[in-house]
This record gives sequence, structure tokens and C-alpha cells, in this order.
Amino acid sequence: MLPGKVPAAALAFLASRFLFRDLIQRRFGNKMGAIDAGEKKEGGFYLFTLRLVPAFPFFVINLLMGLTSMKTRTFYWVSQAGMLAGTVVYVNAGTQIAQISSPGGILSAKLIGSFVLLGIFPLLAKRIVDMVKARTVETNEYLQTLYPNIYACGDVAGPYQFTHTAAHQAWYASVNALFGDLKKFKADYSVIPWATFTDPEVARVGLNETEAREKGIAYELSVFDLKELDRAIADEEAHGLVKVLTVPGADKILGCTIVGEHAGDLIAEYVAAMRHGLGLNKILGTIHVYPTLAEANKYAAGVWKRDHAPQKLLAWVEKFHAWRRG
Ligand SMILES: Cc1cc2nc3c(=O)[nH]c(=O)nc-3n(C[C@H](O)[C@H](O)[C@H](O)COP(=O)(O)OP(=O)(O)OC[C@H]3O[C@@H](n4cnc5c(N)ncnc54)[C@H](O)[C@@H]3O)c2cc1C
Repeated sequence: MLPGKVPAAALAFLASRFLFRDLIQRRFGNKMGAIDAGEKKEGGFYLFTLRLVPAFPFFVINLLMGLTSMKTRTFYWVSQAGMLAGTVVYVNAGTQIAQISSPGGILSAKLIGSFVLLGIFPLLAKRIVDMVKARTVETNEYLQTLYPNIYACGDVAGPYQFTHTAAHQAWYASVNALFGDLKKFKADYSVIPWATFTDPEVARVGLNETEAREKGIAYELSVFDLKELDRAIADEEAHGLVKVLTVPGADKILGCTIVGEHAGDLIAEYVAAMRHGLGLNKILGTIHVYPTLAEANKYAAGVWKRDHAPQKLLAWVEKFHAWRRG
């Protein structure tokens, strides 16, 4: 039963995201706030809880989740795990009932056990969920724990598990603890980069292509191949790329992924650009030392610029210079 259920749920999720957004918003809009807030705070974990303890009908969960920013892949696998656990318990109870052949069977240990399991399953699921949650301390957006004079940051606070996000949060926790009575600052997670230290390194910030597609966000792509970069060639590391996603028709960076030698270092320029609202024109207008790997960032901005060259103006300029040459 389950193998068909999850793809069907995923179809409903995708239809809601791409086809029936307005309709579903109108029909279930009142439930949307709670679902959206839960998904933002706890992501896949929130969906897992909903699947185990069905406070909402499954079809409503599928449709409403489609309107959140959850990835389709996450939706699929979390639904699979949550629905499998629930289905096992409910199917077991059903099977036991079907096997009753005499009035005495109603009192069989197996049947009573199945009903007990059915009854305690939501409580059990909630307990498991709470136990997993207990790995992090609950904080508000100012990083205050339930005891307002105690703050938490880093792995223990989540949601990220990086040294640089721990340091980022530490600023908010310290400043809010020291000056919170005068002014409090909400921890800002809008631009979080990370790197995977494989060979070659992979670094990213903001959206990547897969996420943009899954969230239905339109984007333009500018890619620079490191095989063309002098420093990468000299270092015998001429493989990898800088890939930048921008808002179609606008100089606004949505995200960047860099694969290559020292990608974790190179991404910093795009992190700074996104954090401070700078576009690719600004990166292109910045002098980069030759020959360095960092030039790749500028060349990726150059790819974007070439794709947005004012064709009509260039045609006019060409005619103008042809006329001047006589
Ligand atoms: C193998 C590995 C590789 C990683 N690589 C990277 C990476 O490349 N880049 C990256 O950004 N992140 C990486 N991380 C994650 C990174 O280490 C953590 O996100 C970061 O250390 C979190 O900092 P923190 O201060 O919150 O916790 P921690 O660095 O874990 O510090 C917590 C401290 O509290 C102490 N402590 C615990 N309990 C008590 C107690 N009861 N009383 C007193 N002291 C206590 C601990 O001993 C520890 O010193 C890696 C993690 C691992 C495990």
C-alpha cells in the first residue's frame, strides 16, 4: 500500500506547488500559518511529526506542504519514513481484527496488544520526537532559552552545525545578553555559506539550481569554467566551475556554487555580495589581482554581463564606428 501512497502524496505536493497554489491558499489558508511556521522552524522534522501523529488529514498535509519552501526530495523521504511507521501499526491492528473467528478471539492477547499499540502510538511517536528534539536547546529568535537570562548558540541551539554559524550566533547571544534590555537583535540566517572539504572543494551560498527548481523560483544561470583560468592552469588545478544564479533580468544574486581548488575561500566574495545586496556589476567592477583563483568570481560576473549586453546599443555603436572609419 505504501509504495503507491508516497508518490501520490508527492504528486499532490507538486500539484499544489505548481498548479493550484491560489485555490489551496483560499481553501485551507487558515491552516497555512501554523504549517508554514512549523516547517520554517523544524523543516523535515515537522513533517515527520505530522505524519506520525495525524492531527491533520494526510491530503491536507500534502497540499499545504506544497506551498511551503520544503524540497520535494525532503518531502518524499520524510513522508516515506513517517507513513511507513504509521501504516505498520494500523495495518497490524486491522490484520488482528480480520483474524477473529470466535467471540473468544476478541480477548486474545494479540488483539488486545494491537489495540494498546494503536492507542499509545501517537504518544510513543511524540515521545520519540521529543527525545530527538532534546538534542538541541529550544531558543527564540534572540537565542534566549526558556529561561530568558540564559542564552544558547552553536550546535546546541541549531539549526546549523557549523563553526562559523556558531560564531555568528555567539555575537547575537552575547550582545543580546549584555544589551537586550535596551535593544535586542534577531539572529539573521539569511545568508549562510558552507563548504565541503573534498578534492575539489565544493562551496555554496544561497540557492543552488536544484533548490530553485524545487521551490519554483525562476533564475538565470552564469557559469565560468575554471579550465580557462590562468592561475588554475598554472597550479595544475584547472577543473571546476563558478555557477551563479540570478533573478531573471535583474542584477540580484540568488546563490552561488563553486567547485574547485580553495572553493571555500573563493565563495567569501559572493557571501559578502549577497549579505550586502551587491550585484554582479559590482563584482565585475572590482579589481582582482592577476593571476589568482579569485579572478574566477569576476569572470563569472563577466559571463552574466555578456549575456545581458545591450544588443541594440552595440549594433548602433558598431554602425557608428564603421561610419567613422569611412
Ligand atoms: C568531525 C567533524 C568535522 C567538522 N568539520 C567542520 C568543518 O569543516 N566546518 C565547520 O564549520 N564545522 C565543522 N564541524 C562542526 C563544528 O565542529 C561544530 O559546528 C562547532 O564546533 C560547534 O561549536 P560549538 O561551540 O557549538 O560546540 P563545540 O565546539 O562542540 O563546543 C562545546 C564545548 O562544550 C564542552 N562541554 C560539553 N558539555 C559540557 C559540560 N557539561 N560542561 C562543560 N563543558 C561542556 C565540550 O567539551 C566542548 O568543548 C565538524 C564537526 C565534526 C564532528
